Amino acid sequence: FLPLAAILSALCMMAAAYWLRRKMSYRDEIRRGIARREFSVQYQPIYDIQAGRCGGVEALLRWQRADGRWERPDVFIAAAEAEHMIIPLTRHLFELVAADMAQWQAPRGFHVAVNVAAEHLQGPTFVADVRRLAAQIATQGPRITLELTERSLISDRKEVVRALQTLRAEGVDIALDDFGTGHCAMSYLQAFPLDFLKIDRGFVNAIESLDGDAPVLDAIIALSKRLALRTVAEGVETAIQFAYLKRQGVLHVQGYLYARPMSSDALARWLPTRGC
Ligand code: C2E
Ligand code: CA
Ligand code: CA
Ligand code: CA
Repeated sequence: FLPLAAILSALCMMAAAYWLRRKMSYRDEIRRGIARREFSVQYQPIYDIQAGRCGGVEALLRWQRADGRWERPDVFIAAAEAEHMIIPLTRHLFELVAADMAQWQAPRGFHVAVNVAAEHLQGPTFVADVRRLAAQIATQGPRITLELTERSLISDRKEVVRALQTLRAEGVDIALDDFGTGHCAMSYLQAFPLDFLKIDRGFVNAIESLDGDAPVLDAIIALSKRLALRTVAEGVETAIQFAYLKRQGVLHVQGYLYARPMSSDALARWLPTRGC
């Protein structure tokens, strides 16, 4: 009887400690993770259909804890956004990208895309943060593309438009990410200066699930042509999807069919094997 009570109370204490640790906000954990250099970047190649080669990469943040566990990016990014840690985290990402790019020579006209959150876009340091990254990597050759997602709402549009116009005039490209999944995609199209439209994976999946008929996808492609935006299709996993997208005039594809996200070192080895 006694041992059972002891076990029970020990279990309770463990649960409490676990709960406390969860309460030790993600904020502190992310801050500690940055200090301990637990974050790294994976780069996913994006295929340029017209050029017939890799046109650039998307930088994707990764977090491996001290105990070896990998945190899911969608989970820790959402937590960082919710707990106002996305700006320091994105600045850290910029530093990691700049350090990676200094290790190898990118081909001319190569794009490096980074994801930026609404809070950062609306913050006072945004233009300076992007300029610093541009100053560091432009000498290595790549152009920067900023990927805006409609996941988090941009409230101060005038200021954001001004910041984006400034950066765009300095050679930065702007992409609207995950198009079609948020609430305000259409109004974003009108409000912001854009170069690329990234078609969400969900619409690419529809190609096969709808037996080769994907009316919404077709409409999105037609819309981006009408707006003179370059299209990037995300999550392309099969040759059937690829053939369909190519036939419809999509310019870039990203997905496991072409390449998975990889480390900077792996990318530097991979590019020459793909005519880059
Ligand atoms: P996203 O921006 O839509 O990024 C593309 C996600 O799709 C990546 O997941 C990528 O690994 C995955 N993916 C690429 N090709 C395929 C495919 O063919 N099939 C499937 N099933 N998935 C594919 P990941 O790396 O887990 O990132 C998830 C999300 O986390 C990203 O979605 C992005 O919204 C966010 N994220 C990642 N890194 C950053 C970052 O540095 N900053 C910000 N703000 N968000 C980031
Ligand atoms: Ca993205
Ligand atoms: Ca996306
Ligand atoms: Ca997506």
